Amino acid sequence: MAEFSAPAEFFDGRTSRPSAVQVRVNPRGALEIRGVGVELDVPRAELRVGERVGQATWTVELAAGAALAFAATSEADALLRELENSAPKRIVHALERSWRWGVISVVSTAAALWALIVFGVPQFAVRAVALVPPELERRLGEHGIDWLDRFVDPSTLDAERRAEVETAFARVATTNPKLAALRLELRRGGAIGPNAFALPGGIVVMTDELVELAEHDDELSAVFAHELGHVARRHALQRLLESSAVALITMVITSDASTATSLGTSLPTVLLEAGYSRGMEREADEFALQWLSSAGIPHERFAAILERLERASGSAAIPEFLSTHPTTSARVEDARR
Ligand SMILES: [Zn+2]
Repeated sequence: MAEFSAPAEFFDGRTSRPSAVQVRVNPRGALEIRGVGVELDVPRAELRVGERVGQATWTVELAAGAALAFAATSEADALLRELENSAPKRIVHALERSWRWGVISVVSTAAALWALIVFGVPQFAVRAVALVPPELERRLGEHGIDWLDRFVDPSTLDAERRAEVETAFARVATTNPKLAALRLELRRGGAIGPNAFALPGGIVVMTDELVELAEHDDELSAVFAHELGHVARRHALQRLLESSAVALITMVITSDASTATSLGTSLPTVLLEAGYSRGMEREADEFALQWLSSAGIPHERFAAILERLERASGSAAIPEFLSTHPTTSARVEDARR
């Protein structure tokens, strides 16, 4: 390994007057700083190489406000490049050194990110869904319901009504034996109002408010059938993977660890405001209408609860079941066709 050594000015972070030091990268990769009254060994992980300021100087930030300033000499360049090369995250800085590279990389990064999100991520998510073991999907659903229970209350329906709703659910669930581990969870929705949605792994949530809105239990079965359509196609998991992929890619590109935190918090948002695509809603509707036909329930039951739900939701959060596109009227029309 070549010897990397260069003179620099050392700022101790307490006084403004720098002292002249000699800086060397030792074989273990640490920075040795030597001068009159200065003897420091700084591990690579504890320093940050700053950007080169024009042609003049480089700076290296050390802990506790201390810093090194290097004149832009070839030995300093070689030393700092060595520091940067050995720390993978600093590759970004190598590009930033030239503003032209900076602009190009920002533009191409944005373009690549955009392309990946628009074209790549849904494809990625569709494929990734197949790789997620059902057990993991089930656990994601459990997390979802735990999270949800911080915002909603237990159902206040009486036992008799609950049993009827369970029956309406079982009617759909038992005719779809391929869907393992289906489970109904009833909650008093409060702020989320009349609502129903499916969590990953086959947990279907319905709020008391939606139960109260129904004028016939077949309407509840129609809603359950729609949600089981999402379950059958693992839509919740797919949306979760899509949004996680965006967060992951952003994290990789920006090296921003705080994105990892937002990754965790995106889970509940995705679970509740599933934001399914138009295609996904259509698939779930088709699933529901097919099931209604097979069960001898008129499609009108589906159309009726859709319309009543739209009237009831008003300014409240848009229920999953009523996601904005395709329009409710188009879905009602399809159901009545
Ligand atoms: Zn839906």
